[in-house]
Amino acid sequence: MSSALQVHHLEPSSKVNGPGQRAVVWLQGCTLACPGCFNPLTHAPTGGASYAVDAVFQWVQSLPPDTAGLTISGGEPLQQLRPLIQLLQQVRASTTLSVILFTGYTWEEIQKMPGASALTSLVDVCITGRYQQASRLAHHLAGSANKTFHFLTHRYTPADFDQVEQAEIILAPDGEIRISGINPPVL
Ligand code: SF4
Repeated sequence: MSSALQVHHLEPSSKVNGPGQRAVVWLQGCTLACPGCFNPLTHAPTGGASYAVDAVFQWVQSLPPDTAGLTISGGEPLQQLRPLIQLLQQVRASTTLSVILFTGYTWEEIQKMPGASALTSLVDVCITGRYQQASRLAHHLAGSANKTFHFLTHRYTPADFDQVEQAEIILAPDGEIRISGINPPVL
């Protein structure tokens, strides 16, 4: 039986959360409290919805065939490290999707976590560090200048991130309007 992930939102198709067309998993829950956080609705640990890891993986398997990869964001994904590793193990074993991980933890903090080596073996690019409002960057997917990029495989280079657009507006089939990206417009 798989464990569960608390999920804020699953987006099947985005072009602003990493190179190419990507699915995005925003995980729910974050205690890091960066001033100026762009997504405070993801902070409460009981917000969103709970899904079995297997159910999230079934969603991954249903993605359009031209999907280049999966982006994991939040919230703070590494506050659900064990089920996240379970999900990424299935993604690596059964798909060719690339994996990009956004986390507010620094690379040094991640190295001290139990499971760090398992995690980093399952991720292509890890973007790490707290959001710092005073050093905000509205491009490269960094969010703020202190964040560091870790290219853990040869799948992507820094130049691939230079190409990513800053924002997108998604009109969902149910009529909901969703805004995403590193520099989203205020509607
Ligand atoms: S780690 Fe991310 S979600 Fe958490 S407070 Fe900082 S910017 Fe917000």
